Amino acid sequence: EEEEESSEEEDEEKKMLLTQLESEATRIKNIGESRRLLPVYAYRSELMYAIKESQALIIVGETGSGKTTQLPQYLVEDGYTEGGKYQIAVTQPRRVAAMSVATRVSDEMNVVLGTEVGYSIRFDEKTTPGKTILKYMTDGMLLREVLTDPELSKYSCIMIDEAHERTLATDVLLGLLKNIMKQRKSLKLLISSATVNAKKFSVFFGDCPIFNVPGRRYPVDIHYTLQPEGNYINAAITTIFQIHTTQALKGDILLFLTGQEEIENTKEKIEEIASKLGSRIPQLLITPIFANLPQEQQANIFQKTPEKCRKVVLATNIAETSLTIDGIKYVIDPGFVKENSYIPSTGMTQLLTIPCSKASVDQRAGRAGRVGPGKCFRLFTKYSYENELEAMPRPEIVRTNLSNTVLLLLSLNVKDLLNFPFLDPPQISTLTKSLENLYILGALNSKGQITELGKMMCEFPCEPEFAKVLHSAATHPKAGGVLEQCLSIVSMFHETTSIFIGNKKEATSHIVSDISSDHLLYLKIYEDWVSSNYSRPWCQDHRIQYRTMLRVRNIRNQLNRCCVKLGLSTINASFNGDAQMGENVMIAKLTKSFISGFPLNIVKLTSGGYQTIGKSKGGLSVTIHPSSVIFQNQKEKGKKLEKFILYQQLMLTSKEFVRDCLPIPNNLWLTEMVPQVFDNVINDK
Ligand code: ADP
Ligand code: MG
Repeated sequence: EEEEESSEEEDEEKKMLLTQLESEATRIKNIGESRRLLPVYAYRSELMYAIKESQALIIVGETGSGKTTQLPQYLVEDGYTEGGKYQIAVTQPRRVAAMSVATRVSDEMNVVLGTEVGYSIRFDEKTTPGKTILKYMTDGMLLREVLTDPELSKYSCIMIDEAHERTLATDVLLGLLKNIMKQRKSLKLLISSATVNAKKFSVFFGDCPIFNVPGRRYPVDIHYTLQPEGNYINAAITTIFQIHTTQALKGDILLFLTGQEEIENTKEKIEEIASKLGSRIPQLLITPIFANLPQEQQANIFQKTPEKCRKVVLATNIAETSLTIDGIKYVIDPGFVKENSYIPSTGMTQLLTIPCSKASVDQRAGRAGRVGPGKCFRLFTKYSYENELEAMPRPEIVRTNLSNTVLLLLSLNVKDLLNFPFLDPPQISTLTKSLENLYILGALNSKGQITELGKMMCEFPCEPEFAKVLHSAATHPKAGGVLEQCLSIVSMFHETTSIFIGNKKEATSHIVSDISSDHLLYLKIYEDWVSSNYSRPWCQDHRIQYRTMLRVRNIRNQLNRCCVKLGLSTINASFNGDAQMGENVMIAKLTKSFISGFPLNIVKLTSGGYQTIGKSKGGLSVTIHPSSVIFQNQKEKGKKLEKFILYQQLMLTSKEFVRDCLPIPNNLWLTEMVPQVFDNVINDK
């Protein structure tokens, strides 16, 4: 009897295995079929011929036609990697896109992600040296690779994807590639772009050919509001429920919002309304997608919408062209986007919510017509569309701080910045300001040449300002010996997803009592977590995101490796006379280290409240953000207002807020660390 049972079990097992194999076979077959259905497939041989014939090729095609996922596979299939001798790089402006596309392509090629197909984004690399032949990466990562491999010699083909986004890194790469291509005639360059702007790229690369992949697109009905909307979030939510309750259930909704916070708040509001309506309406599945969405949640957006349910995707403009979500029939477009804007005269970067360009809103509308006829609800007027919107978005290079870029170019020996081949030249005032900033940081000498410190800063996978903090924390006579602490804080600042479960204030209310700054709060959280042996329950107890902390640890390891490699760790250890340093000494050194890295991120208390200390007379009035420990200390615990405060972020929204703040209890520290900036400010009053 026993035997029979076990053989029955065996049979069951075999059957299961067979079903699994069959479903796997079907899956592969389906993937193969869906690959052949994509618009680019019909042009495969023409495309490959065009690539063979020209060193540079611009590829233009409707979003979703298969440029990103298919073209690189064609290159692999046609032997461009020469049996693994070379790799193929595909750049993306956004981290999430690089990861998600690499995942999809590894699936299509039926390999494990991180083997033949991998991705590389800052602080997270999933590749196998010697094995990876197709690498999706952020444009910023490829730019960093130029530092160690100026001719990008390990690649036979480079595809600059989403070039129309015109990120700073993409623009600089294009300039560098122009020279690299002269050195390496066998290198193939593909530039893919949404429909706009293709001609400009072609002209830039000596009138290289433009290949058009005609896409299929169904008609999209466009609706405008009759009056401008006062509150576009409410208007958008109303529209969602109108669609949901009046239109047939088949057809998902895509709503474009401006950022993570807005997306999370809107999600909450929609869910609240939906739960009130309960079973009176069909279920809604709300899936957010933004650049810093944690990896574990990314797969959700591509999940097939369950029966009797409608999916609502809340997306930033990442869903405009870089990611294609199937099944969208309705697009709701408030017409706004968040954009960095740098003001050279004050040296400040503002993150502003501004109206989208015409090109953007047209792209967005197109998302509704991929699977069938669709509808787009624009939450602005037809008049505004026709008369007020800019034609194109402004490229990042003309509206951003260029310190990183200038430092990178100088370390690549590009001495004549004004004659570097920029697709659009940056403003001279921005370049000058960058040189000035780099000089203040000690990255350049008074002749504008890069210093040893400057070269060191380039080695760090973080902004030069943070690199300077770490450098001072390890080596400065008045600050050295606090490298470990600064590494923890800097790593916490680099993790862009929220560390807290729920809001920061609630999560930290019990820790905050005797802490004087956000920097020390982050330090304490990190150190307590380390003491708990990186424990998950500790995170739960303290309302801290465990996965986020794991990423922070990973970032810290990488920054630490860099410090060891550059010898900073050894110098830091030589301050061991201070090993027993008290809390106050530690805080003073840490504060000084941050001053040396961010001497321009300082606000001063005046009769009219806090003001920035820009060179121009009368700084900008700012308010300390309510999420800051300092806000709580001052407003809620009645502690005295600090005269000087260093901030990590300035947000210009309804009010000018400074975020992540560190008080500077002693003016002398400012002059001690950065006399060239502060001698005037302090003596002023
Ligand atoms: P393009 O780059 O031309 O915009 P893509 O190559 O990104 O087009 O997308 C081609 C198709 O692949 C899309 O229509 C979509 O159906 C599918 N696809 C892409 N990424 C994923 C993913 N992560 N999961 C599921 N399907 C995907
Ligand atoms: Mg694409």
